[in-house]
Amino acid sequence: MKVKVQAPAKINLSLDVLRRRPDGYHDVSMVMQAVSLYDYVTVEQTETKEIEIFCDYEGVPCDERNIAHKAASEFFKYTETDNSGIKITIDKNIPTQAGLAGGSSDGAAVIFALNKLFSTHLKEKEMCEIGEKVGADVPFCVTGGTRLASGTGTKLKKMISIPRCNIVICKPDVSVSTAEAYAKIDSAKLSHPEFTAEMVKAIYARDIWMMTSCMLNDFEIALNLDEIKAVKSVMLKNKALGACMSGSGSAVFAVFNNEKKAQKCVEALKKEYSDVFICQPIKEGCSVIE
Ligand code: ATP
Repeated sequence: MKVKVQAPAKINLSLDVLRRRPDGYHDVSMVMQAVSLYDYVTVEQTETKEIEIFCDYEGVPCDERNIAHKAASEFFKYTETDNSGIKITIDKNIPTQAGLAGGSSDGAAVIFALNKLFSTHLKEKEMCEIGEKVGADVPFCVTGGTRLASGTGTKLKKMISIPRCNIVICKPDVSVSTAEAYAKIDSAKLSHPEFTAEMVKAIYARDIWMMTSCMLNDFEIALNLDEIKAVKSVMLKNKALGACMSGSGSAVFAVFNNEKKAQKCVEALKKEYSDVFICQPIKEGCSVIE
């Protein structure tokens, strides 16, 4: 038996890094949004007693370092299920080291697939508990939609959906590791009012103009990269309502209330960048499609 899951990317509509905790992790406050840019993860049962990973995307490890592998191990531990053998095939579209949670979403997708394959009937909350052991973004990739995230990013509060819009995503040719981005934040000592509280107000006011005016990200400010500024400048010239870096970078997203303008922006970006996508906000997270 084989199960195929679509695993969406996420963007951070706002992202405040609040403090470094004594355990080295950081408390954050952010609004996360799932979007219709997908990896496809297929899981099938084998008789090898191993977790095998197949993925031909450059830079993605096909061993126990893969987030999908970690998610499978945690699933077997949590459910006390014997692994008779599984093969995980990842068809990647979400760029890596982008702040789009591509790896985390692959991990969430594996939990969904195994829940179906092994008929473990886990509820969303239980899948989030497994996800939390794998990585801070994994619980969000299980739930998807629009969520206010706090703690290390794993405490999620459901929000109403954001207004319908088109989202253009572009990843410039610069990669930022999350550890590097946090180190920059720690040395930058940012002090400013919190963006996320304003973002929440804007979303509940269903006001896309207010929403796009408070799309701000602490990592973007601390990293202060020319490559990010260059992408934003093309997006804003092409009439985006607002543009912002996602997560710890380096992907940048722009919000449009007009599809034609979004398409024009994609064409302009494609002249200079290879990782350019157009997508929409979605109300769900991972879902089984076959
Ligand atoms: P986040 O928004 O959660 O910080 P990200 O977009 O910055 O995520 P990922 O795409 O999740 O970054 O991957 C970061 C690194 O993790 C990759 O460079 C790769 O070495 C490793 N990795 C492990 N498993 C995966 C996977 N399934 N897909 C992508 N990268 C993976």
